[in-house]
Amino acid sequence: MMIPIRCYTCGKVIAHLYDDFLKGLKGGVDAGELLDDFGLTRYCCRRMLITHVELIDNILIFSSPTR
Ligand SMILES: [Zn+2]
Repeated sequence: MMIPIRCYTCGKVIAHLYDDFLKGLKGGVDAGELLDDFGLTRYCCRRMLITHVELIDNILIFSSPTR
């Protein structure tokens, strides 16, 4: 689905960082360096970006606009 707005554990706002995180990864930057640059020092917040799987485009094909 879509990236959660806040970290599930501590509540820090993290969703605004996800696009930059993906751009950095595609650019070949190490994930740990990116997270350090974003100021995400807690591992609860780091796992939110590292483990997220974007599924919204796969699920949208099952939605029906005629219902
Ligand atoms: Zn957190």
